[in-house]
Amino acid sequence: MTEMSEVCAALGQYCASTAMVFAMHQIQVACIVRHGLGSQMFRDYCAELVERQMLLASATSEVGVGGDTRSSICAVEVADGIFTLNKDATTVSYGANADDLLVTCRRSVDAARSDQVVVLARRGQYRLDQTTNWDTLGMRGTCSPGYRLSSSGPAAQILPGSFADASSHTMVPYSHILWSSLWLGIATDAVTRAARFVRAEARSKPGTTPPTALRLAEVSNDLHTMRAMVRDMAREFTDAQSPNEDAEALLGMGFALKMNNLKIASSTLLVKIVHQALLLCGILGYKNDSPFSLCRHLRDAYSAPLMIGNDRIFAKNASMLLVHKDD
Ligand SMILES: Cc1cc2nc3c(=O)[nH]c(=O)nc-3n(C[C@H](O)[C@H](O)[C@H](O)COP(=O)(O)OP(=O)(O)OC[C@H]3O[C@@H](n4cnc5c(N)ncnc54)[C@H](O)[C@@H]3O)c2cc1C
Repeated sequence: MTEMSEVCAALGQYCASTAMVFAMHQIQVACIVRHGLGSQMFRDYCAELVERQMLLASATSEVGVGGDTRSSICAVEVADGIFTLNKDATTVSYGANADDLLVTCRRSVDAARSDQVVVLARRGQYRLDQTTNWDTLGMRGTCSPGYRLSSSGPAAQILPGSFADASSHTMVPYSHILWSSLWLGIATDAVTRAARFVRAEARSKPGTTPPTALRLAEVSNDLHTMRAMVRDMAREFTDAQSPNEDAEALLGMGFALKMNNLKIASSTLLVKIVHQALLLCGILGYKNDSPFSLCRHLRDAYSAPLMIGNDRIFAKNASMLLVHKDD
């Protein structure tokens, strides 16, 4: 697994959909590396993952639970050392191209919706029947239709421990930091285009400051806020992994609130920044074929607040804040 800071830096360089695919793969790998290495099967799997450079996708969202990742309807069943798992997944990015899948589900048919585990379904052990299309406003390159999954394989492929732990220690922080990093890449490119537009205007009327320069100062201020926020939380998360730090902090409500706030704030700021950049560039930002085009940025940006709905995250924060006293 690559270091978090290297992944964050790389995410700003790619087109948004490619970066999202890379981010989602890294999130799945992190879940295995940070929660599975107590098992020989998962140690061997990690070696193979590196050796064969396999691509891991996620089947977390499910018909009937939407973006509530901490609930599952489907359940894994184990008999004679073999698991069976069927899931009606709403959205599986690059499902058609992935090697293997990490699937969240209830621990057993008797388990509560929140008593979840993660199951590794390997190519050849699962079948995906496409149920919906991915004809979206943006993020089209993630190729994320719905699928009905049926799978079966060795029970050792059930990740040790609970998804509750994997989610709070790894999946949520990795998702919110990596998604925010790639959203920062979209925002940075939008502001770069806006800055080029303003400088071109300034050059065309030497000795005057174009009125759009004020707007550029404004949008650049929002970009700096977003960048500081993303880097701050990435650093805090990385520091919490060091042996000197109290790793228990990762389990606390304070940390969960901060991670949720990062996702809400960065996805909201992204839409605001791209919108400001569009207003600044005017019709040249609105055109698909102009060097100042912001059409794709805008289309991709609108997926950010929906990718686990911000209101859903606000609702989680609201209930935590009823009991959490600090910060
Ligand atoms: C580009 C992209 C790629 C994706 N790839 C994957 C993938 O590979 N694997 C995967 O599993 N999923 C993936 N998803 C799905 C994603 O993770 C979410 O599950 C999905 O976006 C949420 O779906 P929803 O809006 O229909 O559902 P819901 O979460 O049900 O939300 C619907 C609406 O209800 C609101 N709402 C819901 N609950 C509450 C509440 N308690 N309080 C207030 N408001 C609430 C939400 O804010 C939202 O407005 C992807 C999404 C995107 C955009």
